Amino acid sequence: MYDMLVVGGGIAGLRAALAAKAAGASAALLAQSHPARSYSVTVQDGINAPESAEGRRALAQETAAKGAGISPAAVVESVCYDAANLVVELDRFGAPFNRNGSVIARARVSPDGAPRAAYVNDITGLALTQTLYEQAVGAGIPVYDEWIAVSLVVNDGQCEGVVALQLATGLVQAFDAKAVVLAAGGARRAYEPSTASLHCSGSGVALAYRAGAALVDMEFAQYCPLTLQGRRLALSPLLLGAGAAMENGSVRLNGADKAEIESRFPDTLHRVKALSGVDLLQDAAPVQPAMHRLLGGVDVTAQGESSIPGLYAAGECAGNGFHGAEGLDGNFLLVSVASGKSAGAAAAAYGNASGGAGGGAQAAEEREAVEAALSRPGGAPVAALREELASLMHANAGASRSAAGLTSALQRISSMRAERAQLGAGSAAKDYNFGLVQYMELGWLLDAAEAMAASALKRKESRGVHTRTDYPKQDPAQASRLRVTMSADGPKVEKHPAEAS
Ligand SMILES: Cc1cc2nc3c(=O)[nH]c(=O)nc-3n(C[C@H](O)[C@H](O)[C@H](O)COP(=O)(O)OP(=O)(O)OC[C@H]3O[C@@H](n4cnc5c(N)ncnc54)[C@H](O)[C@@H]3O)c2cc1C
Repeated sequence: MYDMLVVGGGIAGLRAALAAKAAGASAALLAQSHPARSYSVTVQDGINAPESAEGRRALAQETAAKGAGISPAAVVESVCYDAANLVVELDRFGAPFNRNGSVIARARVSPDGAPRAAYVNDITGLALTQTLYEQAVGAGIPVYDEWIAVSLVVNDGQCEGVVALQLATGLVQAFDAKAVVLAAGGARRAYEPSTASLHCSGSGVALAYRAGAALVDMEFAQYCPLTLQGRRLALSPLLLGAGAAMENGSVRLNGADKAEIESRFPDTLHRVKALSGVDLLQDAAPVQPAMHRLLGGVDVTAQGESSIPGLYAAGECAGNGFHGAEGLDGNFLLVSVASGKSAGAAAAAYGNASGGAGGGAQAAEEREAVEAALSRPGGAPVAALREELASLMHANAGASRSAAGLTSALQRISSMRAERAQLGAGSAAKDYNFGLVQYMELGWLLDAAEAMAASALKRKESRGVHTRTDYPKQDPAQASRLRVTMSADGPKVEKHPAEAS
């Protein structure tokens, strides 16, 4: 039994485990992939952290303005005002930030933004993930990599651990813990095209949703306009700031300072060449908009507490309201680090004060469910449903939405659930059964997609990145957050209780 268990080995999960350990808790981390292969490693540009108090105030104001009036002021202020401290802590952990002399350098992360982001060339995410992982290993935090959480253990309304499946062996077992921090990343693979890695399967929001926790802000989904065609690689908006131009669906460096681009974006140039064969310094690279950021997640307080005692969430699967209705470049990493640290500390304090009955009985049920899935057909039909879901969401719950499109998406999601119930892993193999993983991920993606479409249907206005063609204007009467819970009659969407009057 651990005091606290983190699900997810990205930047948020690693930061949470370190915070819990520093608070004296016995902390462990469980992740579907090796932490150093988490999606966080793809972050190119940087983490907002203005040096001056004035800069931090300006960041808070811009964050709130971008969020279109629905972000809780206390969350925005606490994250922005603490940003520079969070970066100093990362620096002390050994993050190799670029420097001007002895001072951590700051750069723009968007063409029109202030130079306020700390960065490591164009591999900030890789450098931070490796630094935090090294710290976690050094602190003696047990890391169970290639273990997939398949359900949360909730006894008498308290979260007491998870049941997880080991990818290498097919073993299913309970991990008992006095508190759990979900840091399992986003649900971007519910859309196609997207910039997501395979593991952005929405498992964090889905596990919480199934266990009875509320989700929030699920209608807000942000596209990246500069994604390498067919390749999921999001190109930095800074390329445009450095003089690159969009022409007929391609990005071209005409007029750009190529020497500056070569020195600031060496890894980007390498990846574009490797993935598409285009030498961006010479030729145009075709780009397209792709789903990049889901702004909602498990409904949590500023300390990461969900609606289930003992269950916390951080990073991209958490919805503390920081982004509001639209996120600001450089703020995603910032809130992942900030929310990881605060959820880890809060979970450690909770874990120290409570006990737990264990997840043995639930593990037996999950074992049976896995055995049954191993004997059902799968593979191609599961992949086809997953592809169809992603196209459906892009078409009907993407950059523009309407009641008709969202209603038909919800109907199809419901029938896809019934079709999935007839399917399974497509093979009885116990070791590295990726058919089983695909099947489980499809279930999570369907749950996340349902919560997103239902929330988007409920918000009858356009706000931030949520654009309704049938309600094109922002409505001041709807300047509140929506939360969604699972019920026997389908998703129940209502005004967030903190704001309901
Ligand atoms: C190309 C790109 C560039 C970006 N650039 C920036 C930037 O410059 N600045 C910025 O602020 N933000 C940026 N972002 C956003 C930022 O990357 C994310 O918001 C942040 O990294 C999310 O971290 P996380 O720890 O929440 O999730 P992740 O890094 O996705 O980690 C999730 C972890 O959970 C694990 N997991 C998932 N499901 C399960 C399960 N069921 N059981 C166990 N483990 C599970 C995964 O294996 C992984 O270890 C960028 C994103 C992309 C794609």
